[in-house]
Amino acid sequence: MSKPIIAIVGRPNVGKSTIFNRIIGDRLAIVEDKPGVTRDRIYSAGEWNGRAFSVVDTGGIEIDGEDQIMKSVRMQAELAIEEADVIIFMVDAKDGLTIADDEVAQMLLRSRKPIVVAVNKVDNLNRHDDIYEFYNLGFGTPIGISGAHGMGIGDLLDAAVEKLPELTEEHYEDDVIRVALIGRPNVGKSSLVNALLGEERVIVSDVAGTTRDAIDTPFERDGQKYVLIDTAGMRKRGKVYETTEKYSVMRALKAIERADVVLVLINGEEGIIEQDKHIAGYAHEAGKASIFVVNKWDVVEKDEKTMKNFTQDIREQFLFMTYAPIVFLSALTKQRLHKLLPIVTRASEQHALRIQTHLLNDVLSDAIAINPPPTDKGRRLRINYATQVAVKPPTIVLFANDPDMMHFSYERYLENKIRAAFDFEGTPIRIFTRRKS
Ligand code: GDP
Ligand code: GDP
Repeated sequence: MSKPIIAIVGRPNVGKSTIFNRIIGDRLAIVEDKPGVTRDRIYSAGEWNGRAFSVVDTGGIEIDGEDQIMKSVRMQAELAIEEADVIIFMVDAKDGLTIADDEVAQMLLRSRKPIVVAVNKVDNLNRHDDIYEFYNLGFGTPIGISGAHGMGIGDLLDAAVEKLPELTEEHYEDDVIRVALIGRPNVGKSSLVNALLGEERVIVSDVAGTTRDAIDTPFERDGQKYVLIDTAGMRKRGKVYETTEKYSVMRALKAIERADVVLVLINGEEGIIEQDKHIAGYAHEAGKASIFVVNKWDVVEKDEKTMKNFTQDIREQFLFMTYAPIVFLSALTKQRLHKLLPIVTRASEQHALRIQTHLLNDVLSDAIAINPPPTDKGRRLRINYATQVAVKPPTIVLFANDPDMMHFSYERYLENKIRAAFDFEGTPIRIFTRRKS
């Protein structure tokens, strides 16, 4: 199932990032706990009233030249209209309704997207009358909020979540492996799609008139069915904002949510950049299987150490994803291309792997015997038993006397022991420690 996207749009300084941080506050604190996980404040997972969503702050697109504020707001709005399911249109009670607000409102109105108007900086009750003029925007009742005081955020989320589309079930059968290709522009995503499909198949390149529809491309190889997710998104060309990180990130988020296996493309010619880490980090957090694909290997000057050094570089830069296999290939010459699909299939199997409880407990009791759990003030963490409660990704619950005593490093130790015994190559594993009831 695809997680819907809520985008925040508005002029600079109305308080978008303040509100964004309010919305994701708790969740970020949890993520920050784990060393090595890249944080990216452009987007985050959120949940409200039992609905899960991703929230994106579209602000901060920088453009040179005159009239840049208007241009950048216009781009944010375009981006949100194209990719988001619900748009929070943020305005500023102190400034009142501005011409720029009006222009954005016209764009949003034409889009027929669900819109919630948030009037920020309503810091006290005296200000509350200031929200009335924003009825003129034409989106119904504006919601007064204060990012500074954290007021009204619940009402805002109520309104936004209420407008989210109904959940749609994924329509692929379980035996189809859903593959997303992600990576920055020009890394070779479309070329790899074409290479995988073979020369005789040409994927749809013109989706004029349909700005939103994701087009997936199914194919079969050696008896295994695959579907490449959102190949339409890869074909869109020519708009300025495609080169902005936010655009690629929003597209990638949606594709990742729907995938089983994520191919993280890296430009072999140029090496790893920060943006690669942001997107890969999201695949990790979303619990998807991942494979690093180092593309354009044909143009890399190589000696016997090149592959080893590149591997080491990836391992250092993506500390939290040591489980992801690395494939070096060329989408252009198809050099080493044949290695990819067997690795995809295997990663997908590992992602869905279920370990019998007694085998899991055998491995864990050996691990605990060799290296006992941490102690604190004379008390020791006791892990009584473990069980795998979910697949995709494999999720293991450890029942213990005092879950608070579990340390990240000890959890990592157990994870390594589990991987040594059962493999799980290509997939993240989630481990939770619960109090034994
Ligand atoms: P963005 O450019 O839209 O992301 O805006 P920011 O979140 O960076 O906020 C711009 C400025 O408005 C900052 O100085 C914030 O401290 C301030 N601000 C944000 N929310 C509120 C609010 O509710 N009340 C007041 N008075 N100031 C706020
Ligand atoms: P996308 O933006 O990620 O979809 O990237 P494209 O597939 O459009 O590729 C961008 C450019 O890189 C094009 O000029 C491709 O021909 C080139 N390219 C893609 N894969 C390879 C490769 O493996 N080797 C070389 N040398 N060029 C490639």
